[in-house]
Amino acid sequence: MKVCVIGGAGYIGSHAVYELIRAKHEVVVIDNLSTGTKDAVHEKAKLYLGDITKKEELHEIFAIECAKKPFDAVMHFAAKIVVPESVEKPLEYYHNNVEGVRVMLETMRDFKIKNIVFSSTAAVYGDVKKDLCLEEDPCAPINPYGETKLASEKMIQWVCKAYDMNYCIFRYFNVAGADESLEIGLKRDNLTHIIPITVQTALGIRPSMIVFGNDYPTEDGTCIRDYIHVADLAYAHVLGAKYICDNHVSLTLNLGSNNGFSVLDVIKEVEKYHPVKYTFGPGRAGDPAKLIASSTKAKEILGWIPRRSLADIIKTDIEFRKKHELKK
Ligand code: UDP
Repeated sequence: MKVCVIGGAGYIGSHAVYELIRAKHEVVVIDNLSTGTKDAVHEKAKLYLGDITKKEELHEIFAIECAKKPFDAVMHFAAKIVVPESVEKPLEYYHNNVEGVRVMLETMRDFKIKNIVFSSTAAVYGDVKKDLCLEEDPCAPINPYGETKLASEKMIQWVCKAYDMNYCIFRYFNVAGADESLEIGLKRDNLTHIIPITVQTALGIRPSMIVFGNDYPTEDGTCIRDYIHVADLAYAHVLGAKYICDNHVSLTLNLGSNNGFSVLDVIKEVEKYHPVKYTFGPGRAGDPAKLIASSTKAKEILGWIPRRSLADIIKTDIEFRKKHELKK
């Protein structure tokens, strides 16, 4: 396949590019480098600097590339993803995440590109009251980030219906870890996710960390989440793109592991390497006690199962941070 990866210089996008290239596909990356970096783009991928919200920029790049050979599929990773920031700056989130998707779809329609693989999120489900999330469950986001992803999902569905296109929407659970090459990983200031924060604390990059809440109705009182290795998640995109290209169908699939681990489980796993200094604080607003994906549908349809465990996620995150953050 020839695949256009929009947002391919970012954390998840760069891993998708690595997996596409390992599977011998041709890759063109479009990224505005707002959070991504050039050095995260695989040397075999062609990088264009471009902004998804600017139609002229996308058109120009599509015109150059599609004149050589049209894209078989487009993958979209170019979203703003920080929940508290989305509450503070909803207009920026709607502009980038929703208007960006609209411009991308319009460009795809203009160039007759038929297949879109879209990064969505468990945040579309909202405040989940049950343990295992199924794709058919009602969606009721509780923050602008989740709302922009749900709005984009719906836009994609209507557009695909109108213009005879296919989509593969993936709803991610808790993505973490780094590619085993240690060339790429989550390299961002102001990290908010539990695994990089715990690893940075263990490595002495942060003095200590706070566990948000220890009175949730779970076995050890801390929240349970479904952690998935970024390389497993990225590989699902290769399978998803191939599936919709070959079968001309559309899919919405959760990507998780069917397994849950508590915040204290994560800390214990990191402590196999280095001690972690933490204290308990109050629970974070809007955090459900337990969020686990049913990934049965992804397994049945794509034959996808996550191959890496929580231990692999933590090991690669530690090695990545040792290589990139401790060397200075
Ligand atoms: N968490 C924590 N301390 C931190 C960051 C996160 O205790 O410094 C908890 C958070 O409250 C949640 C879990 O870790 O229960 C996973 O949070 P994260 O932000 O990684 O992902 P989310 O599930 O919110 O998308």
